[in-house]
Amino acid sequence: MKLMKCPACEKGALIDVDNILSEVEGHCFVTEGRRCTDCGEEFVAEKDGQKIIEASKKLGIWGEPLKLHRKLSKSGRGTVLRIPNDIEKTMKLKGNEHVLISKVGKNKLLLEVES
Ligand SMILES: [Zn+2]
Repeated sequence: MKLMKCPACEKGALIDVDNILSEVEGHCFVTEGRRCTDCGEEFVAEKDGQKIIEASKKLGIWGEPLKLHRKLSKSGRGTVLRIPNDIEKTMKLKGNEHVLISKVGKNKLLLEVES
């Protein structure tokens, strides 16, 4: 099996794991996915990410912070982030909203949609 290179650090390899812990509003979900052998970054499998979303909706806690991994891409003018479909739907985004981006930590950004 060829190991995938970690997109976060580009040094480690991604290995299959079945013990990724995601937390939504104090509720913990254990899912399958991949973890980097070098930096420890975790990537929840797409289907399991959906399971967490479904379970969270049933519990009525969906809509609160859940880390979704997305890869940035480059366009002619800069770096582009694709907003996950679920967030787009939940927030009823049309795609022409103005957003405020604040740097809130060493490697953390806060994105606020202006109403
Ligand atoms: Zn890594």
